[in-house]
Amino acid sequence: MSIEMENSKQMRTWLDDMKLDHPLVIAGPCSAETEEQVMRIANELKDTDVNYYRAGIWKPRTRPGMFEGVGALGLKWLQKVKKETGLKTATEVANRAHVELALEHDIDLLWIGARSTVSPFIVQEIADALEGTDKIVLIKNPVNPDLALWLGAVERLHTANIKNLGVIHRGFSTYEKSKYRNIPEWQMAIELQTKFPDLPIINDPSHITGNRDMIFDVSQTALDLNFDGLMIETHYDPDNAWSDAAQQVTPEKLIQIMRDLKIRKESNEEMEYTNNLNNLRAQIDIIDNQVIDILGKRMKISDSIGALKKQKNVAVLQSNRWNAILGNMILEGEARGLSEEFILKMFKAIHQESINHQEKIING
Ligand code: PEP
Ligand code: MN
Repeated sequence: MSIEMENSKQMRTWLDDMKLDHPLVIAGPCSAETEEQVMRIANELKDTDVNYYRAGIWKPRTRPGMFEGVGALGLKWLQKVKKETGLKTATEVANRAHVELALEHDIDLLWIGARSTVSPFIVQEIADALEGTDKIVLIKNPVNPDLALWLGAVERLHTANIKNLGVIHRGFSTYEKSKYRNIPEWQMAIELQTKFPDLPIINDPSHITGNRDMIFDVSQTALDLNFDGLMIETHYDPDNAWSDAAQQVTPEKLIQIMRDLKIRKESNEEMEYTNNLNNLRAQIDIIDNQVIDILGKRMKISDSIGALKKQKNVAVLQSNRWNAILGNMILEGEARGLSEEFILKMFKAIHQESINHQEKIING
């Protein structure tokens, strides 16, 4: 990353200039479907905290033959939204032609989707097409958890003299099944904020969760981690949406989410203390969940060992193996500032749970 970009404070000017007393909110349907649908949702979102109205016009779909967006026609509907509701507009662009059409239709905010950020050729094409623009451009994280690739995209746009930049954290794709559609890997967003505190960062709980019931919790975590805003997919009839049905919320639900979220304001010392505390607690909660997850995985492997031992009729407790593990872990712990006493207690507890599991398997 160039020094110039590291020092650049102008990236967040657009956000500061908005002088919001709440996080930035970008909301609207995953896809523009019909003029009636676009207008109806926009009308339900005007006079709320929503700052930008989103609608996907060109949809990057995993498989061919699915709904791929209404195309340029939808840009006219977004223009009508701006004219009739006063909401600013936002859409995804994925190549030069999209950029040219979006600019022609005076879309206020453009974002680069996760499937585009992975391709430096595409990002460069978009950066060249947008060169010098005053529009706000947000870059979603690439589908794979690669911070350098994400920052490389920011750098390409910055180098193309695009000043009003920001990023959107929408989670990362994994082979392993999880409760998330795209796992958040919060650590990466935290690292990005630490390195570039002036780069606005928006959270997209819709694509992280893939499930409307989890949107509130992920949004709250994001705000506790100092995110600047949220992008939430919103549709008056989510179940019948033409794309991403499971994750969209109704305008009514969105308003309720915005009302219930605890929003931290940086005003006085007391507040700052609470903010810092909440921020650190949110980080602890994330790690605690990872600890539980990893212990669950360890126990599953231990179950498989139990099944093997049963087959071969071997005793559960193999003390050589256990002593070797303990010795290693005491050394690893020491290197991380963890006392021998703690490591012993913790591994004894893990080992006991493992033995209980294996005994159950062997005896029954
Ligand atoms: C979207 O915002 O509808 C979208 C396609 O998102 P992503 O690029 O995060 O998959
Ligand atoms: Mn979507």
